[in-house]
Amino acid sequence: MPYQAARKVKCSKCEIAICMGENAVIIPMKSGAYSRKRIHCFNCLNKIIEQTRKDLKKIEDMIVIIPAPQKSLTQIEPDNDDDPVALSE
Ligand SMILES: [Zn+2]
Repeated sequence: MPYQAARKVKCSKCEIAICMGENAVIIPMKSGAYSRKRIHCFNCLNKIIEQTRKDLKKIEDMIVIIPAPQKSLTQIEPDNDDDPVALSE
């Protein structure tokens, strides 16, 4: 959520100073049983968004890979033409 510094604060991540009246963002962080709000500068916010996007992409890729097992049945068959051991007959 947007946040306007009421006093001079530090970014929770990079510890850059956020001066009074400057804009920043508060990100609610869950750690263990309690959650707390942490102030982040926009630079760190962008990094967090980028990282979250990468993590999401990984999950999306998994979803794409999992439900397509039909083709792999034919691909498991050994290709003897390229296998020198199979040519010994
Ligand atoms: Zn920062």
